[in-house]
Amino acid sequence: MKQNQIWGSGLSPFFQPEDFLPSHPSVKEDLETEILVIGAGLSGLLCAYELLKEGRSVTVVTANTVGDGACRFSSGIISADGGPDLLRLKELIGQENAVGWYRFALAAVEQMEKIVADTGSKCDFKRRDQFYYTASRREGEILREEYYARHHLGLDCRWMSEEECREEFSFPCVGGMMMKDGGGEFNPVKFCRDLADWITLHGGEIYEGSRVDTIEACADGFVCRLSTKKITAKKVIDARGGEVLQKRPQLGQRVTVFSVVTEPISVFRGWKDCCLIKNHDELSYLRTTPDGRILYSGQVTSALTPEGRFGRWDANAVCRVKYKNLTAELEEMFFGIPRIKQEYGFTQGLVLPKKGLPYVGQDLQWQGLYYLYAFGESGMAGALLGSSWIRRMICDGRGNAPKYLSL
Ligand SMILES: Cc1cc2nc3c(=O)[nH]c(=O)nc-3n(C[C@H](O)[C@H](O)[C@H](O)COP(=O)(O)OP(=O)(O)OC[C@H]3O[C@@H](n4cnc5c(N)ncnc54)[C@H](O)[C@@H]3O)c2cc1C
Repeated sequence: MKQNQIWGSGLSPFFQPEDFLPSHPSVKEDLETEILVIGAGLSGLLCAYELLKEGRSVTVVTANTVGDGACRFSSGIISADGGPDLLRLKELIGQENAVGWYRFALAAVEQMEKIVADTGSKCDFKRRDQFYYTASRREGEILREEYYARHHLGLDCRWMSEEECREEFSFPCVGGMMMKDGGGEFNPVKFCRDLADWITLHGGEIYEGSRVDTIEACADGFVCRLSTKKITAKKVIDARGGEVLQKRPQLGQRVTVFSVVTEPISVFRGWKDCCLIKNHDELSYLRTTPDGRILYSGQVTSALTPEGRFGRWDANAVCRVKYKNLTAELEEMFFGIPRIKQEYGFTQGLVLPKKGLPYVGQDLQWQGLYYLYAFGESGMAGALLGSSWIRRMICDGRGNAPKYLSL
């Protein structure tokens, strides 16, 4: 069993030991660039991709290696369904904005498809139907309301009664909605690495092992200081991911998510078309991988303490129990599948942003400093959409991203 239970590390079928090795140089001298992107996660790399397509000159610097941040623990699911429901969003940001965001988020799957085709990425991207269900009678009513709201928007979704669910899935569902082509799955680390290759091939520069300590405004842009060197840039995009929470804790709340990946399975029974599955009753997601495994994330708890404990509990002991619970849940849900065995187990902190949406915009104080913090369960959609907003802001001078996404 491959499991590494230390906070912030761990292997998955997507992230292997060789991915820890840098494939780009570190910053060894002072540099000057037109646009500096800080952070080579999905957000930063997508910004670089979008800007290079517009003929801009771009440098990316990242603290460790490409794709070693949140994406290495991610389930690799793109979906409008990751964040809050449409009805909840209406309460948070109003009807018009909620509908606007939802339409954007649905477009993220299409955008991903286009970028994969354009870059030739071998990240196993595949569109999938998405099943969003509940096992609780009380929640069934709420989910049904959500279904009506989406249906009203003209989304291609179908309500499935308890009986219909029983025919297609082996686990208990009171009801659920099936979104046709509502999401996509891919290997997020491979996608980051392929994007990085595309970026260097198209004139962008990438530096690994190069942490930016400070960003200061200067006469013609910004000076970003690393431990011994500095980079001067006309514009800076801050895509540092969850690390910004150290300075801005008000942006979100850290929780811990546990994931298991099974050994390959020969026949999937009780799982319609290996669609993406989201449970409405708890934060949990299920998908399959191209080599026939189940990836199951859930069992959310509070964040680990700086001492590496969950409250009074030792992290390793908690991880062991959580992985066991997840595997037992899988066995119960898919009792028709013989021999479900865990092969990987990994644990990571997930930042849940306040409204469940990414933060994207331009700094109010410093013109030319942009931010893209694509936190949360729908962070990938946030990274895709946020990067194209940043491209529009920089290249077309189109003001700012929607106000409800600003810091
Ligand atoms: C367990 C888990 C499961 C998830 N599942 C999904 C999912 O299925 N679908 C989905 O849409 N989203 C999911 N997410 C969220 C998703 O992974 C992220 O939103 C997405 O990867 C975007 O990340 P990012 O690029 O903004 O940040 P990151 O991937 O964290 O990248 C930030 C990068 O910046 C670097 N950096 C930080 N500080 C500095 C500095 N000072 N100088 C230089 N570099 C710096 C970091 O080293 C890192 O490489 C999940 C997240 C977790 C933790």
